[in-house]
Parts: sequence; structure tokens; C-alpha cells
Amino acid sequence: MTNKVLGCYYMDDCIFCRIINGEIPSYTIYQDKKTLAFLDINPNTRGHTLVIPKKHAKNIIDMEDTDVEALFRTVKKVVSSMKVSLDLDGLNLVVNQGEVAGQVIHHFHCHIIPRYVDDGINYSSKGYSSSTEELEELAGKISVNI
Ligand code: AMP
Ligand code: ZN
Repeated sequence: MTNKVLGCYYMDDCIFCRIINGEIPSYTIYQDKKTLAFLDINPNTRGHTLVIPKKHAKNIIDMEDTDVEALFRTVKKVVSSMKVSLDLDGLNLVVNQGEVAGQVIHHFHCHIIPRYVDDGINYSSKGYSSSTEELEELAGKISVNI
């Protein structure tokens, strides 16, 4: 069920909406009118942070453009802060969309995963290869009409 709470659309059974609404505590990094950034409670690495829109949407397609813009502005703010506050060597920005991609919580979120030399994480698995013909065909198929 969707309610309008504090000017935001809120799903009663969504854990991230409940965090936004203050019903579940979080380690807040940053928030503004449209977005919230908080520490992932089960981090992949030290400082693993989630950035979410305050208006519930299960994926990027369901979000308004202004909310997408606000979200990535917040991602940049958090990354800038991490650069000076953590001794990180790099980072991954990750969005899991759909269960097949590992999305467990169906409220859009961007993971900011600080990376450290020898942190043991490996995201570089290449499970597919495309022929040049297929790359050409795909470029045509996916091509975005402006
Ligand atoms: P995903 O698999 O992309 O849906 O990621 C969901 C993330 O939310 C996981 O990394 C969880 O560790 C994290 N998470 C779940 N519950 C909480 C919570 N209460 N506070 C902070 N992070 C959470
Ligand atoms: Zn939600």
C-alpha cells in the first residue's frame, strides 16, 4: 500500500521506506529532500554505503528524472566525502535490478562500495562474449532514440 508521508510516497512493507520514515534506525551519512545515504548494515567492504530516493520506486525506470538526478548528485557528494575520509584505493558503484541481478530490497538503491588493494572482492567475472556481428546488431537494437 502506498501512503503519502512527509511529502514522500511510502510503502508500508518496504524496509528502506521504514528507514526514511525513522521507524528503523540507520547510520545516516547524508540526506536532503529527495535522497538518503546510509551505511549498509552488512557491508562488502569498510564504508559500504547505500544511496536511495526518498520516494519509493523499485527501479530506475520507475523514478522521475529529477529524482534520478538528485540521487546521482548525492552519490557524488558521498564519493567526494569518502575520498577524504577513507583511505580507499577505488570504488564500485553498483545497482542490482531484479532478483536475477541480486536485488533483494525492491526500493531502488545505489551501492557505493569502497575498494582497497587486496580486499579480496572480485567483480570481474566475464560470463559472456559477443562476436563483432552481434556487437553491431546489439548497438542497433539498444540504440536510444532522442
Ligand atoms: P540488494 O541485494 O542490492 O537489494 O542490496 C540490499 C542491501 O541492503 C544489502 O547489501 C543489505 O546488507 C542492505 N540492508 C538490508 N537491510 C538493511 C538495513 N536495515 N540497514 C542498512 N542496510 C541494509
Ligand atoms: Zn520503499
